[in-house]
Amino acid sequence: MDIHCRHCGEPWDHDELHDMEGHTYKQAAVAFRSYGCGAFVRFLNSVNSPSVVKETCQYSPIYPPEMLELIGQSQDMSPYPDEWSSPDEIEIMLQAAEEMF
Ligand SMILES: [Zn+2]
Repeated sequence: MDIHCRHCGEPWDHDELHDMEGHTYKQAAVAFRSYGCGAFVRFLNSVNSPSVVKETCQYSPIYPPEMLELIGQSQDMSPYPDEWSSPDEIEIMLQAAEEMF
């Protein structure tokens, strides 16, 4: 199953959350929800301080802003990555909504 960065839309395999260094799966999900792809990048803020600073994804978006907004909303609604909507699922929901009206 893929999860998508809310900032650029890039897909990641959700198993990557299990492999995020220094994080439990749950912490990794929280980090991904706020930083997107940036959650997987480690930035050391100084040589003397080993603490890790994450930065929000800076990649160019591969989806229009409306889609990224909906990806973000579905991530805000659930702490469980397997409940987050993919762009494909969002497309289908949008189409179904259009047909209703
Ligand atoms: Zn991203």
